[in-house]
Amino acid sequence: MPQAAHDHVLNALGVWTLRRYAPGLLTGLLEAGARLWDLRTAAPGDVDDEDLITVFCRRSVLDLVLHRCASALPTVTISHETAVTELLLDSDRVAGVVTDSGEPLAADLVVDASGRRCASRTWLAAAGFPAGKDLTGASHLRAFGRFYRLRQPGGSPPGPLNRGNAAGGVWGHYSAVAHPADNDVFAITLGTLPGDHATTALRDPGVFTAVCGISPYLFPWVDESAVEPMGPVRVIGMPPNLLRGASPLVGLLRVGDAACVTDPMFGRGLSLAFTHAFRLADLIDRHPSAAVELGRAAADLSDELLRPWYEQSIHDSWVRVERWRAAASLPPASRCPPVPPVAPDLWAAASKAAATDPVVWQGVTRAQTSLTTPARLFADVDFPSRVRQVPAEPAPAPETSPPTRTELLQTITATARKEG
Ligand SMILES: Cc1cc2nc3c(=O)[nH]c(=O)nc-3n(C[C@H](O)[C@H](O)[C@H](O)COP(=O)(O)OP(=O)(O)OC[C@H]3O[C@@H](n4cnc5c(N)ncnc54)[C@H](O)[C@@H]3O)c2cc1C
Repeated sequence: MPQAAHDHVLNALGVWTLRRYAPGLLTGLLEAGARLWDLRTAAPGDVDDEDLITVFCRRSVLDLVLHRCASALPTVTISHETAVTELLLDSDRVAGVVTDSGEPLAADLVVDASGRRCASRTWLAAAGFPAGKDLTGASHLRAFGRFYRLRQPGGSPPGPLNRGNAAGGVWGHYSAVAHPADNDVFAITLGTLPGDHATTALRDPGVFTAVCGISPYLFPWVDESAVEPMGPVRVIGMPPNLLRGASPLVGLLRVGDAACVTDPMFGRGLSLAFTHAFRLADLIDRHPSAAVELGRAAADLSDELLRPWYEQSIHDSWVRVERWRAAASLPPASRCPPVPPVAPDLWAAASKAAATDPVVWQGVTRAQTSLTTPARLFADVDFPSRVRQVPAEPAPAPETSPPTRTELLQTITATARKEG
C-alpha cells in the first residue's frame, strides 16, 4: 500500500492493544529494532499510568514482523500473489470470494481488510447490492516525507522531542514533524494543503532540507554531519476521513481502514485498525455462526469504537484546513463546521493546564494517544473541574516561532532557483 513508504507512529492505544492481545508481536518489534518510548518523560510531574507508552518503528518493519507472526500461526495461509475480485453469494449471504485467477474460495465469513478503498463496496455494487451509507469529511492534506539515519549508531535523537514522541509542530500554515523510528532511523514529514502549488517544490530534497532548516526544532534533524538521508522525498495525498456503513449482507464484515479512515495527521489509523480487528475477533468468537447477530454486534462496535474518532477527526481536520486556507488567502473550504465533540474553549483550557498539572496532562495525553476520546474525558465531571482549578499562568514566551508564510515561500523559491 502506498502509505507504507511514509512515516507511521503506533500510538499508546496501539501499544495497549498489542500488549493485551498480541504480546508476541510487540516482542518481535523490539527484537527487530523498534523501541518503546515512555510518554511520561514529558509530564509536568509524577503520573502513575503505565499505558502512556508508544513505539518507535517504521511501518515497513511493523508489516514485516506482523507477517512473520501471522505466517507462524498454524491456521493461517498467506497468498501474496492473489487479489480478491468478487464475492461468492449464496442467496442473500456472502459465502466466500473469487480470486483474480477465477478460483472460488468458500468461507463462512469474509472480512474485508482491503484498506481505505473498501473493496467490498465495489464487489457489492457489482452484485447489485447497496454498499451501505458512508460518511466522509475532508482532510485536505498533502505530505512530503523522507527517512534519515543517525550517523552514530545508538546515538540519541538529534534534537529535543518537544511533542512528547516527536519534534516540530503543526503550525498555522503548514506542519513539520520528525518522529524517531527503529534502528537509528527517523522520519521527517512536511504537510501542506494539496492545492497549494507554491509548496509543490518541497518534493525536491534541497528545498525539503531548507524548509526543515527554518522550521522550529527541526534544524538539528537535517544536519548532515549527524544524519544521512536514506532515500528520496516521497509525496502522498492523504485520504479523507471516512466512516463506512455497516455491511448490508450476512457473512461480510469490514475492518481497519475498510471500516473507518481518520486523517493520518492524527496518527491513529493503525492503532484503531489493530483494536478494531481484535475486538471483532472477540465478537466472532461469541457469534461463531456468522449470523445476523454478528452483523449487528459489528455495527454496534463501529458506533462505539470508530464513530467517536471519525467525529473527532472531521472536526480537527476542519479546524486545521480552514486555518491553513486562511493563511494562504484562500476562501473557506466549507461554511458548515462539524460539531466539535468538546467545546473548543474547554479543550484549549485543558491543553494549557496540561503544561503544569500532571492530572490534566495525563487526561489530555490519553486523549491525544487515543486511549480515551476527548468527549469521554470531559464526561467525567472531575476532569473539567480539575482544569478550572489549575491557576492560569502567563503563557511562556515561545522559544522559537515558525516562519511566516512569506518567509516559507521565499525559502522555497530561493532554494529551488539555486538547485536549478
Ligand atoms: C501517508 C499516511 C501516513 C499515515 N501515518 C499513520 C501513522 O503515523 N499512524 C497511524 O496509526 N496511522 C497512520 N496512517 C493510517 C494507516 O496507514 C492505516 O490506518 C492502516 O494502514 C490501516 O490498515 P489496514 O490493514 O486497514 O489497511 P492497509 O494497511 O491499507 O492494508 C490493506 C491491504 O489490503 C490489500 N488489498 C486491497 N485490495 C485487495 C484485494 N482486492 N485483494 C487482496 N488484497 C487487497 C492491500 O494490498 C493492502 O495490503 C497513515 C496513512 C497514510 C496514508
